[in-house]
Amino acid sequence: MADHRSGDFIAGLIGAVGAEHVLTDAVLIEPFVTDWTRRWRGAAQAVVRPATTEQVAAVMKICAAHGVAVVPQGGNTGLVGGSIPADEPPFSHVSLPIVMSTKRLDQVSDVDQQAGQVTVGAGVTLGELHQHVQRAGWAYGVDLAARDSATIGGTVATNAGGIRVIAYGMTRMQIRGVEAVLPDGSIIEHLGGLIKDNTGYDLAGVLCGSEGTLGIITAVRVGLHRIPAETSVALIGVESFDEAIELLTRAVVPGADLLAAEVIDETGIELAMQVTGLAWPLQDRHPLLLLLEVADGGTGVGFNESALVNRDVVMGLDSVDKQRLWAYRERQSEAFSAHAAQAGGDVAHKLDISLPIQQLAQCADQLRERMLNYSPVESFGIFGHLADGNLHVEIVGPSATDEEVDRLVLSVVSQYGGSVSAEHGIGRAKTAWLSISRSAAEIRAMRALKDAWDPQGLLNPGVIFASEEHPSK
Ligand SMILES: Cc1cc2nc3c(=O)[nH]c(=O)nc-3n(C[C@H](O)[C@H](O)[C@H](O)COP(=O)(O)OP(=O)(O)OC[C@H]3O[C@@H](n4cnc5c(N)ncnc54)[C@H](O)[C@@H]3O)c2cc1C
Repeated sequence: MADHRSGDFIAGLIGAVGAEHVLTDAVLIEPFVTDWTRRWRGAAQAVVRPATTEQVAAVMKICAAHGVAVVPQGGNTGLVGGSIPADEPPFSHVSLPIVMSTKRLDQVSDVDQQAGQVTVGAGVTLGELHQHVQRAGWAYGVDLAARDSATIGGTVATNAGGIRVIAYGMTRMQIRGVEAVLPDGSIIEHLGGLIKDNTGYDLAGVLCGSEGTLGIITAVRVGLHRIPAETSVALIGVESFDEAIELLTRAVVPGADLLAAEVIDETGIELAMQVTGLAWPLQDRHPLLLLLEVADGGTGVGFNESALVNRDVVMGLDSVDKQRLWAYRERQSEAFSAHAAQAGGDVAHKLDISLPIQQLAQCADQLRERMLNYSPVESFGIFGHLADGNLHVEIVGPSATDEEVDRLVLSVVSQYGGSVSAEHGIGRAKTAWLSISRSAAEIRAMRALKDAWDPQGLLNPGVIFASEEHPSK
């Protein structure tokens, strides 16, 4: 189908959001069609930047009338290629898409002190939300390294996890209501924040994790937590995943609030040293480092002295030290990308799996063996959210189009009853692997939902479901 680069279509978009916010110049479009990992690049006929829910609805109606696909995009920090279009329309029934950037949906309401809730526009970044609620004496339960770019809309659309899941749960658990624009341009608004509300289907829950395939989230009402006590961080050298898991249950005193439990391997620490300029953090070398954070008043008393005695450990009690210790963990993804660029100009494969915690050590060993035996692999690292059974595997060497290396990693999870996506979503990257984690009946049920909400197949085509012909066409 032809695109609508000129004429009515673009004029309609300009009428809806203003000429300044309809980008058609290839140079201006480029950052919106290249994903954070640089593994995926796409094509769009325009980038549209609405500032209100009504503008989002108007743009969606114009696209529906012209059969133009829409790719919603927040901070473009997603790691599975879901926030950018494919390099050509993935289905014959849709035109070259537009990217709908939600960043101008940046309104924030006052914190509701009685309810412990706040409503924010989809384009507000996670970092901005944290600051806003902190000023009012509250904390938001989702946090991750991309906080200064990732948006609330994007985190809801991906049901993001992050570093506080062990304490507060994933994004779905924080949501009290959502406002969204559906593919026909209609607006659903349910932002009352009622704690109890069993009036039919939980549409916010359905939109959460839908990766832009069912609706464009324009605002979110989230529940908040009281700011935890000051925290202490410990970075501990361990020799294996088994040891890290065993220590996890002993290192924190009973009753202390564990806020984070992360793991990073030696390769990852070395690469983080290169991008941060920091030194090796401990006295000796270890294959793995365990990072724990407890809310204990910033005194270190939350850690069990007897479990840490004779161990190679460094504590962070003030904000400077804590930030330094976290940097080894938070710069992992960036460090592997930088290493891949240096090593040969290609990209790092970034995979995100979850496993039953009892199987995690065995699975990590098997992953190592597979990587060591696959000749294109030059280096690889494993890090992640240990307590959630969530490992991130970063691989340097195989070309961006090498799917065999992804298969080697993802097929391991089926053996152990894990998931091919712990927190990043399916996006475009993992459509071929969805059936490892979901049964045919489950995929049919999801597909039916997609077809009912989006009968024209306009929203983020090619994401979650593989690029087969859209069934309604
Ligand atoms: C350094 C780094 C660390 C990260 N750490 C974590 C982590 O610990 N845990 C984790 O879960 N993720 C992590 N991520 C991945 C990423 O930050 C999350 O997936 C985040 O939720 C994406 O938010 P975003 O605004 O950037 O969304 P985008 O990347 O713009 O989009 C992601 C998906 O959501 C859809 N979408 C975006 N906005 C909307 C909207 N308003 N309505 C409907 N659909 C929408 C897009 O179409 C796309 O499918 C990390 C990424 C980086 C770069």
